[in-house]
Amino acid sequence: MADYRNRIVPHDLRNLRACLVCSLIKSFAKFEEDGCDNCEEFLPMKGNHDLVYECTSSNFEGMIALMHPEESWVAKWQRISHYVKGMYAVSVTGTLPRRIQRELAQNGRPYRSRDVSLKT
Ligand SMILES: [Zn+2]
Repeated sequence: MADYRNRIVPHDLRNLRACLVCSLIKSFAKFEEDGCDNCEEFLPMKGNHDLVYECTSSNFEGMIALMHPEESWVAKWQRISHYVKGMYAVSVTGTLPRRIQRELAQNGRPYRSRDVSLKT
């Protein structure tokens, strides 16, 4: 059990940020080191300090430990059932910069806000 928890829970609980696109939670350092595990392919944050700042938020609410993405109704509800195992935020405050939203849309990945407070 200890091993399992160590694997999915970020080691450093300070400086945690959530991806604005997929809501994955990791430390700033991890985002900069590895990029976002779900979004790296179309949002290359790896080694890009500025992009990590723009595409992640330190302001988020709720945490979900996603362990069986394909079986979880919570995962479906949160639209994270196709993502890697890990910690996810229920709501992420903030939005992607417009130019990045445009880029995603052009690549066929229209951005949907993870900010619950914006929904009507
Ligand atoms: Zn992401």
